[in-house]
Amino acid sequence: MVKFSRPAPWQTVPSSSPRKSFVGANECAARRRVLGRQLVEHDLDALVVSSGPNVRYLTGYTGSNGLAVLLPDRTMFFTDPRYRIQAAQEVDCSVRVVSGPMLPHVAQYLRRIKSRRIGFEKSHMTVEAHQTLKDALPMRSSLEPVVGWIERQRAVKSHQEISAIRRSVELNSQAYEQTAKHIRPGMRESELAAELDYRMRRQGAEGPAFETIVAAGARTALPHARPTSATLRGGALVLVDMGAMLDGYASDMTRMLFLGRPGTRVKRAYHAVLEAQLAAIDAVHGGVRAQAVDRAARRVLAGHGLAREFVHSTGHGLGLEIHEPPRIGKKEKTPLLSGMTITIEPGVYLEGFGGIRIEDTVAVTDNGCEVLTPTSKELRIL
Ligand code: ZN
Ligand code: ZN
Repeated sequence: MVKFSRPAPWQTVPSSSPRKSFVGANECAARRRVLGRQLVEHDLDALVVSSGPNVRYLTGYTGSNGLAVLLPDRTMFFTDPRYRIQAAQEVDCSVRVVSGPMLPHVAQYLRRIKSRRIGFEKSHMTVEAHQTLKDALPMRSSLEPVVGWIERQRAVKSHQEISAIRRSVELNSQAYEQTAKHIRPGMRESELAAELDYRMRRQGAEGPAFETIVAAGARTALPHARPTSATLRGGALVLVDMGAMLDGYASDMTRMLFLGRPGTRVKRAYHAVLEAQLAAIDAVHGGVRAQAVDRAARRVLAGHGLAREFVHSTGHGLGLEIHEPPRIGKKEKTPLLSGMTITIEPGVYLEGFGGIRIEDTVAVTDNGCEVLTPTSKELRIL
């Protein structure tokens, strides 16, 4: 099921980096250099980076209040006094610790270095922050919207990042395995979700990458069901969709269980989804358009008369965030590139009956992909 004719490039690189801060200073500096060149190409003097994951990607900072001002040849990082020590430990560029609202200090800095054309992250900066910055800058300065530059760079992962995602995926699968054997009829959905989260954290995860989804019986037909106090009953499907956050990187997996003996309808639907998932995985390789992967899954389900029951896209990128570009959807022409990490997760949802989804995290290679998720994809019978 893994299209993989030679070792992925990152597998040949020994992982010598320490566990906690696997992204070395050099890596952040290299990322900033790529962005610095983009600034020059677009005739921008500076870029104000305010989105948390993007700030982390460029500076290594893991706190909650930080902002980076990128210039073509250097970067200034701003934070508040609560993060003075942390910033000194994590950030490898110049740091300015300021009290009170940060943006007036940022504007003062931009004024002092005479930046004229200043980029900002259109998808992340609030209207209020934009106004504050605009008011504090001289009339001759202009604020230029920048969309997706850092996200596009983030979509292709380095060797170290793929190692981190692999560790996150493995931890997540272990937490699932340890918990799955204790699942019994009578357990509440919320209780099972709490057990999964607990085992993730026991193994060193920072926490779940998203709110763990546990749904039983007909509720499995809700693709994003939140765990309730409903109990797991015999003769019913259970859907578990979970992911861990480890060293800042997310994992994502969906598995199905059945309490008792599944009937023909469940088995048929399960095998249709599994066939679709394997077909989509088989379609993944560097250079393929994301929509072709989506189509591969959709075609199989259509063959089983289940096209209309597949109500979402086939997958998404993941990394510092649980949902990142690229999207593996019907209309996505973006080519997949070697080094991207994505999920493959077709599903079908039948009201009153239930839903089935199977999801793995995979890393794209030149010739195919590597399925990082080690957990068996058989319908687990309990
Ligand atoms: Zn998921
Ligand atoms: Zn997912």
